[in-house]
Amino acid sequence: MTFICPHCNHKSVSHFSKFLSFEGSPATCSNCGKHSIDANGVNDSYRQIVSFGLIVFGALSLFTQTILYFAIWFAFTTIFPIYSLYCVPLEPIETEKVKRYRSKKLVSIGVFSVLVLLVVIFE
Ligand SMILES: [Zn+2]
Repeated sequence: MTFICPHCNHKSVSHFSKFLSFEGSPATCSNCGKHSIDANGVNDSYRQIVSFGLIVFGALSLFTQTILYFAIWFAFTTIFPIYSLYCVPLEPIETEKVKRYRSKKLVSIGVFSVLVLLVVIFE
């Protein structure tokens, strides 16, 4: 199954690329080659909620010695991608924006590695 590209309205965005789409790695249309991502940054927020939720609910589960909280987290983690895949439309994203996002990421990785290096040198 494929999804409709918001640029050319062809059904040419694959399941997989829609599911993984976010600003730094958008889905690419196999018809027109333009980029699109899940609307409103849904995928990005999902990733943040899932990793944050794993810490919170995982800790709660450990603390209370019940699987209940972990089950809640697990249910959300599995159900939400299905919702986002079928109910959230793709929105177009400009290639410029993707490039900007990537260079921002590169700069922050660069700053981080310099800091780590400084710590290692001066320790
Ligand atoms: Zn297209």
